Amino acid sequence: MHAYGPVPSRRLGNSLGVSPIPPKTCSYTCVYCQLGRTSKLQIKRESFFPKWDILGDIEKVVKKSDPDYITFVGDGEPALCKDLGWLIHETKQRWKIPTAVITNGSLLWMEEVRQDLMEADVVLPSLDAGSEEVFKKINRPHKKIKYEQMLGGMIDFSSEYKGKVWIELMLVRDVNDSEEALKDIRKNIELIRYDRAYVNIPIRPPAESWVQPPSTDRILRAQELLGKAQSITNYEKGEFGIEEFSNARSAILEICLRHPLREEQAKEIEKRFAEEGSGTVNSMIGPELLRTYYRGKTYLVPKKFVRR
Ligand code: SF4
Repeated sequence: MHAYGPVPSRRLGNSLGVSPIPPKTCSYTCVYCQLGRTSKLQIKRESFFPKWDILGDIEKVVKKSDPDYITFVGDGEPALCKDLGWLIHETKQRWKIPTAVITNGSLLWMEEVRQDLMEADVVLPSLDAGSEEVFKKINRPHKKIKYEQMLGGMIDFSSEYKGKVWIELMLVRDVNDSEEALKDIRKNIELIRYDRAYVNIPIRPPAESWVQPPSTDRILRAQELLGKAQSITNYEKGEFGIEEFSNARSAILEICLRHPLREEQAKEIEKRFAEEGSGTVNSMIGPELLRTYYRGKTYLVPKKFVRR
């Protein structure tokens, strides 16, 4: 299935997710990525799947739910999908639900990518660095993407686009939270036309085990420097949509592939399938899922994620 949820999102409420790309296909391999390291690092855009199949999957989930947004997000970078513009257009023709695209923003220097996003209601790009050096450290981009080129694409897009731009800055301790790094980010973010800025921190197990959130005073400093930035350092609230699944096992596995679950969230899903006490979650730990501990919480991640 290319569509899933809705999942509770801290920025988009009840968000029906659409992944038009294969797992972990991205132009970055960020140190904080909750999906593990990128297995296919690329900038070539492709039609990875038949576009009508993706649209059909969206329809199946829309019929059973009432999302606040249909969000193109992917298990990687959704702008790598050549059919993204067509998918957004067709989605808007069929359903009166706002569309959002969560993107790392790395491909906006391509005219075709900017055009593809024009019809979306909200675009949520990331900007985690203010210099080439920090960019390479935190996002570890494909070798053909340079910082100035990425930033230029974001500036151009924001001036051409008529919808809302909500920028996100992920802060990682000792990587981009110093005074100098934050001031560099501020200098460049000011060149972009945006409606909201969010300061985020790693709350789920990251691709690299050394990744830590910054101290509270660095988060506050980032918010202060970015002026209108809101913080999204809390956990999401609400239930995951499970209507398309026939049992707790398939629901938990599918959700974990895209969104590592805390153990209590997985047990909650077990309960909603009236499988409480069945041991479904416990039986999956080992063969299919691994327990990972991060910041005092226990998460369940698919065994195939690559973490160090
Ligand atoms: S966090 Fe997003 S941009 Fe970074 S590697 Fe993961 S999917 Fe790609």
